[in-house]
Amino acid sequence: MDLRERIASLMRQARSELAELVAIRSVADPRQFPPEECARAAQWVRDAFAGVGFSDAWLAQMADESQAVLGTRRGPDPDTPTVLLYAHYDVQPPLNEADWRTQPFELTEVGGRWYGRGAADCKGNILMHLTALRALGEEVPVNLKLVVEGSEETTGALVDFVPGHADLLRADAILVCDAGNAAAGHPAVTVSLRGVADVVVHVEALASELHSGTFGGAAPDALAALVAMLATLRDGRGSTTVRGLDNTQVWPGAPYPPEAFRADAGVLDGVSLLGDGTVSDMVWSRPAVTILGIDCPPVLGSTAAITPRASARLNLRVPPGTQAGEAAQALVSHLHAVAPWGVHVKAEIAPPGSGFQARTGGPAYQAIAAAMHEAYGQPMVTLGEGGSIPLCNVLADTYPDAELILMGVEEPLTLIHAPNESVDPAEIAAMALTEALFLQRYAAVRN
Ligand SMILES: [Zn+2]
Repeated sequence: MDLRERIASLMRQARSELAELVAIRSVADPRQFPPEECARAAQWVRDAFAGVGFSDAWLAQMADESQAVLGTRRGPDPDTPTVLLYAHYDVQPPLNEADWRTQPFELTEVGGRWYGRGAADCKGNILMHLTALRALGEEVPVNLKLVVEGSEETTGALVDFVPGHADLLRADAILVCDAGNAAAGHPAVTVSLRGVADVVVHVEALASELHSGTFGGAAPDALAALVAMLATLRDGRGSTTVRGLDNTQVWPGAPYPPEAFRADAGVLDGVSLLGDGTVSDMVWSRPAVTILGIDCPPVLGSTAAITPRASARLNLRVPPGTQAGEAAQALVSHLHAVAPWGVHVKAEIAPPGSGFQARTGGPAYQAIAAAMHEAYGQPMVTLGEGGSIPLCNVLADTYPDAELILMGVEEPLTLIHAPNESVDPAEIAAMALTEALFLQRYAAVRN
């Protein structure tokens, strides 16, 4: 049997094990679900990987009380390269259960897809790893390390664990399997992530509320000032315009088709997409400001009064390669510069998260491109991601020579984090084949 056939024959086991794992409600938030659920999931993962050669698999205690599953599996000789396999076993809460068409913690097949919370993010990727290793059997030509964390969706304590335990996870190539293709059947790796910084801005203009009849017209209105300031953060096309921040970058990889984006984002008929670039430019390469919240009188309970002070919380997404802290500083300077009428402006910057850009020229990228091409019968493309994954920065900083590869089964139809999450079993099979072929080729490319 070749690898593809072996993986096909392993999919029944993959399904029943994914069902076991999905049935464990491993939401890493003791206020919502009992912590025993996460402990059971950790144990399940430990046992499963012990069964595919990680005989030393163990549970490492993190600072947030969660447990990460760690392990090693030695290759045929010590000179072969080391590959670290990553996933997480904790899941998002199901949200409103009434919005689910199936039971969230019961893996259910509908129309060829498997539905359930975590079916893709990230338990589907755990089954991808297991299926790849089972298909290879004894024939794994590299050294392997494993980390499956238990609080990725909440506190993300692994980020703080890595620098102090660098030797445990040190590897030449790291498969960060918490991502996916742009569409099922079309192989891709994610090579860039935007950075992020939140800014809270406060505007003050008056000692207290004033009657809008008596004073309105001449009295400086803090809310009107804030609205005017926020309006300068976008131009007529909707591009983000922060002084001193480039907004003309062009995405060099695969395009994000506008029709796919409209569908993925649920944009209503007749409403335009924003910006003067392509969708991939706008969401992967350029800065974006989102107004997350405004403190001002709510409509219900409001009276005929001029607002003396108002605040807004802004979320700034920063292109990879731009320092998030410097970009946040530019946003703050911009807000001060555009404030009208001499209103008092104060701003606070929350700790920023940097963007990430993968190094794509090395042997691991060569091997993954070849593996994806063979598994899918078409060439691999490169994608960006508008959000940030702090772990990627920590791994890149801790292991500057390692190649990080972001991939997995989380294509857009999986609806990760939303109700009705699902996974396409064909993606689990094709990505498991990719991973198995990668492990074979990478040893050959390196030697
Ligand atoms: Zn995830």
